[in-house]
Amino acid sequence: MVNPRNSSQIRRSNIQTLLASIRQNGPISKRDLQKLTGLSWGAVSSLTGLLHESGYVVYTGKQITNMGRKPSELDINPDDHYLIGVDLNLSGICGVVTDMKGRIVREWLRLFARNEYDCIMETLFSLLDEILHEVFPHKHIIGIGLAVQGFVDIENGLSTYFPHVQHWKDVPLRRILEQRYGYPTLLMHDPHCIMVAERAFGNSFMRIAQNAVMIRLDNGIGMSLMANGQLYLGANGKSGEFGHIPIDPDGPLCSCGNRGCLDEYVSGNGLVRRFIELVNQGRETSADIDSIGNTGYKTLGAAGLNGDSLCLELFRQMGEYLGLSLSILFNMFNPDLVVLYGDLTAYRSLFTDAIEKQLASHVYAGIPVKLDYSELGRNAAAQGVALLVSNQAIEELDLGEGEAVAAEGQRPGEVTRYGNAVDVRD
Ligand SMILES: [Zn+2]
Repeated sequence: MVNPRNSSQIRRSNIQTLLASIRQNGPISKRDLQKLTGLSWGAVSSLTGLLHESGYVVYTGKQITNMGRKPSELDINPDDHYLIGVDLNLSGICGVVTDMKGRIVREWLRLFARNEYDCIMETLFSLLDEILHEVFPHKHIIGIGLAVQGFVDIENGLSTYFPHVQHWKDVPLRRILEQRYGYPTLLMHDPHCIMVAERAFGNSFMRIAQNAVMIRLDNGIGMSLMANGQLYLGANGKSGEFGHIPIDPDGPLCSCGNRGCLDEYVSGNGLVRRFIELVNQGRETSADIDSIGNTGYKTLGAAGLNGDSLCLELFRQMGEYLGLSLSILFNMFNPDLVVLYGDLTAYRSLFTDAIEKQLASHVYAGIPVKLDYSELGRNAAAQGVALLVSNQAIEELDLGEGEAVAAEGQRPGEVTRYGNAVDVRD
């Protein structure tokens, strides 16, 4: 006799397997789903029917062919069961709403008036209020993902430290958002979210790579490591603090409190710091010094592209530091590739030769050196964290016994806690 508890667990697990397979392979026929999952025809038919009734999947591909009517194929519903992904970054907040496949339905970009706790939180709330109450009040929202800069305590949902923002310590972002909106919320360090997006939507090599490093270059520098197809988070989720490896113990003070971190040399803020230092020492430049307060390293990049010798020198030096540091990563991890992402890469022509020179000199013989620039846009971290929430939602999916139970948007106090998302979609 079948144990009813086991039978309901098996049924639940089969539904999750089918939804994951449709998400990854859709549009896909039921026959192919059966081959892929090894489930019985009866199980595939009834459970995909349930997923369809619940609005998770839709039928597509109903063309008439010479052989008759082509079997309907199943795919993720692009019109409902949405996820919200937010990239909380010093250069602004990028928000996206995606379907369960990670396809972007709509996108927002908000800038902060000031880098202060109150201002950042108000901007975040106003974005989420707009998404949930004005733009998508009648859709099923599955959850909210937050990609956050600085140190993130993934397990407890805390943003421990946000660089260059005063009075920001151990902010319980997950609890704040779950109490305010009632949706399960996931916090993740932003470079890991970009890695997830690269894996799903990046170039063809990135999609099949098993071991990769992703570096985010912007005002600061961030890193994510993927090993054997999984995000490598480390002992307590703090892996990838590449920007805080010490370069010079007597170097400038870093926002983390230490001296001479890589972040002070290889980042937009580092470029600006060094530029001001040299101009104060009397170096000549054609860069528009007055605009640096507003546009930061972009002013230096523009001047470099116009041939300003000081800015050319600064970007070349940054490339040398980055190339040296990357050679350590290549030698230690032997990745299939390293991907560089972020707004600072718009000026890659000013530093890529310097990186390659260092790699050619310092990477150990026989270790392949593959360095790519990301093809993803500004929304990659937001899209990646939405995909992580989608992964977790599938792992937690329970359509109940018998008939379909439509997943109503949850109200405050009914939050389902997701586990710590670490899987990179294969
Ligand atoms: Zn540091």
